Order: sequence, then C-alpha cells, then structure tokens
Amino acid sequence: MVGVKPVFWTASLEELKREFDSAGLPAYRAQQVWQWVWQKGIAQPTQMTDLPQSLRQKLEAEWRFPLPRLLHRRSSQDGTQKLLWELPEGGSVESVWIPQRQRFTLCVSSQMGCSFNCRFCATGQMGLERQLKGYEILLQVYGAKFLLGLPITHIVFMGMGEPLLNYSAVMEALTGLTQRMGFSARRITISTVGIPKGIERLAERPERFELAFSLHSAIPEKRQALIPTAAHISLESLRAALAYYCQKRRDWITLEYVLLANINDGPEDVAALRDFVAPPLAAKVNLIEYNPTPGLPFRPSPRLKEFQRALLRRGLIATIRYSRGRDIAAGCGQLARQLVS
Ligand code: SF4
Repeated sequence: MVGVKPVFWTASLEELKREFDSAGLPAYRAQQVWQWVWQKGIAQPTQMTDLPQSLRQKLEAEWRFPLPRLLHRRSSQDGTQKLLWELPEGGSVESVWIPQRQRFTLCVSSQMGCSFNCRFCATGQMGLERQLKGYEILLQVYGAKFLLGLPITHIVFMGMGEPLLNYSAVMEALTGLTQRMGFSARRITISTVGIPKGIERLAERPERFELAFSLHSAIPEKRQALIPTAAHISLESLRAALAYYCQKRRDWITLEYVLLANINDGPEDVAALRDFVAPPLAAKVNLIEYNPTPGLPFRPSPRLKEFQRALLRRGLIATIRYSRGRDIAAGCGQLARQLVS
C-alpha cells in the first residue's frame, strides 16, 4: 500500500469487504475482523487468534489501529470518574463516566477546548485548540468500554466543545456509535449551545438522537452576557430551529438551564422561560446545579427548588440535575484538563 496507511476506525464493513475482495480474501474474513474489533474490543491484529497468520500480518502492514492513551484517571466520592485521554492526532481531552443506579453515562468531548467562551464554563476559558476527528470522539467511548472495561448505557456530547461546530466529525462518530458499537440513537444526547443550521441538519438525520439545547436565559440580553460569542445568533432564530426539530422529529427536546445566583434565577427569568417554551416548541427544562470554577465570579443559586416549583406551577416539565463529580472537577462546565482537583 502506497502512502499513509488508512485508519481502521474510519472504514465501514462494506469498505473492508471490498478491500478483502480485491485481495482475494472471502467476505467472512472481513466479518471476523469486524467482530474482533467492534464486538470483542481487540484492536491488535496479532491477538485475532482465529485469523491465519498471513492475514494478521497483512492487517498490521496495511492499516493503522491507533488507540487513545489514558493519561490520568480520577474517581469522585460519588463514583464519577474523570478520564484524561491523549489522542492519536495529538493533544488531550477529558471524558467523564457517571454511574447512576442502572444507568452508566459517558460524557464525551467533541472539540479540544471550545470557541464559545461561555462565561461560567472552565472549558470556554481555554479557547479552541483544535477540532477532533470523528474517530477520536468515537475512541473516547471505545477506550472507556474496552480498554478500561467501564459499562456504558448512555452517551452525552456534553464534554469539551460545541458538537455542532464540528458537525461532520460528530456525525462520523455517531455513525460509529450506532452502526459499529451498537448504541441506540435514543441513548445518545447531543447538547448544543445553539447553531441553527446544525440543529436543522440534525433534524434530517434518520436516527432519533436526543437533543439538548443550552439556554441558560430566555432573556436575550442576559443570555448574551453569559454567552457573548453567541451574540450574533438571535434567540428567535434558535427557537425557530428548535421548533423545526420538534416538528420534524415529532419529539421533545431538553432545555438546559444552569441556575446562577442573582443572575438568571428571578421571577422575570421564570416568566421569560415560560414564554420561550410555547408551541410549536415541545421542551422540558433541565435545571443544572452550577459547579463553581476557581477564577470565575459565579455562584450556584440557592433557589434551585423554588425555581423548579415556579416552572411546574406554570405548567412546564422541569427537572433538576444535581452536580456529579464536583470534587474532582468533572462536573458540568468544569472540564479544563486539571490533573488534580
Ligand atoms: S458550556 Fe459548552 S459551549 Fe459553552 S464554553 Fe463550555 S464547552 Fe463551550
């Protein structure tokens, strides 16, 4: 093979079968390799013991099977684990594994850093270092599952980065998660701070992924102060894109709302949220307990329950997401590759 060897993670089963066919190998051999890699979690051809030696050598010679390297792993008192991965294309990102009774969620990063600069978020203070390749997003799940043996039932794109600003790589990762690793689309949540075109494109996908939109305030000036980079994207255009998503998918979305003391937790904020969640938008509200970040001036609101009750009284569906992994800086908005908590 001439030039750089292709990365195995980007190949589909059909492509692999075609490669094998042109090399005079039967299709079932491609299937065997596929099972080793995607079902048994073995990515070293030398360990694919039921393949002929010549085929193992051929795989080694013609494909690359790069894996992420675990640089750091910290466990929280509540069982949450923060994983720092060195990625094949260079640099590192964090993923967070969150066990909760029978549910095991892996929160993955879609970019190295983030360009959005949400004022309350540690990742936003890093800026954007680079886009991740689709397979590097996928490998965070593959690594947690097969290299570390962690059970995973749900995946959320809520780690570092804005997934819809790395659209094609995220779509490639979603294809890998559903078609190769066997995750149901309903168990995968894509969380966005709001890219109208990306939301509309996502609505066209055949799979039914869960969509979460980070609203944080339904009052335009307040939202703009919290997410200055989103100033050029109006709340109306976002609401229209979200409504399109709901109508197209006949589905509900989730509005994420991090509750900050004396910033977005007053009666006027409840009223604005009530107005925002009106048909054709079908949305439930998820109130997030804020995780304080050193150097940032925000505090968690003591009105979390009260705010929830006010929304419920106005007929909204409102839940609370309490912080997980805060003691190891693995909570929402805390990912900034700190090695110690
Ligand atoms: S909250 Fe999300 S979009 Fe905003 S800076 Fe943090 S990672 Fe980026």
